[in-house]
Amino acid sequence: MKKLSDILKQQYGEKIFKICLTSGCTCPNRDGKISLGGCSFCSEGGSGEFASAPGDIDTQIEEAKERIRNKTSASRYIAYFQSFTNTYGDVETLEKLYERVIRRKDIVILSIGTRPDCLGEDVLEMLRRLNEIKPVWIELGLQTMHDETAQRVNRGYQLVVFEDALNRLKSLGIQVIVHVIFGLPGETREDMLQTIRYLAALSPGPDGIKLQMLNILRGTELGRQYEENPFPLLSLEEYTDIAAESISILPEEMVIHRMTGDGPGNILIAPDWVRNKKKVLNTISRKLKEKNEVSFTNKC
Ligand code: SF4
Repeated sequence: MKKLSDILKQQYGEKIFKICLTSGCTCPNRDGKISLGGCSFCSEGGSGEFASAPGDIDTQIEEAKERIRNKTSASRYIAYFQSFTNTYGDVETLEKLYERVIRRKDIVILSIGTRPDCLGEDVLEMLRRLNEIKPVWIELGLQTMHDETAQRVNRGYQLVVFEDALNRLKSLGIQVIVHVIFGLPGETREDMLQTIRYLAALSPGPDGIKLQMLNILRGTELGRQYEENPFPLLSLEEYTDIAAESISILPEEMVIHRMTGDGPGNILIAPDWVRNKKKVLNTISRKLKEKNEVSFTNKC
């Protein structure tokens, strides 16, 4: 398993921190182009609660650096546009914004969260140009390979759209990171592992993956459904089992960017155990160690 922090340290010779920024884009799954409801798990902040307030991008960067000053002495950063759909807008305006960011000395990577159905030819051309300046990562919220689940949570696009976007991005040499959520309504453990096996078998496959437990948040459609009629969620044991199994399935070269989410605690309804990130990570590590011991014993 390759850990992102180790790879970055090796590549840049120091710890590289991520700063969350705001492009000002909305999302076609929320503004009516695809739907008005959005994905049923998505919060009002567009699944990016830690981003800076919109505004001048250099000010956003300086403020974001200031917020993490007590956590790190890092001098270089990944500029992460997480919330909403950051390729959904006027391409000329977006390119000016992203170019300004990527040309800064203190930014080493530009990471853009978006939807696979918001990557038209003009957007891809922009990404190709930006990727020539410094590495560009595209983060796609797939969440599940199952179209039936995707429809249930109102993701608003089908698996084939994701595959097409992945292929086109990879053909341009752009790194792709896929987000997967475990515990989506109606999914079994086997359904979740199928998503992982599917991603592991893709060629070209994603460069990285982010795993997360489904967080039920206040102000979301799922939050409303849950409060009306609470449904079962994965326990810490179940989630960490699936996460450890997933990590053992994924190819060695795929980088694990996240093994558990950083959900916004102030609007979290359930499950409560996700608040204890350290415990989640330690439990996954323990299970991974146990797996290695088993395979080692088997080999003996
Ligand atoms: S695509 Fe992203 S921003 Fe849009 S509704 Fe879904 S999770 Fe939210």
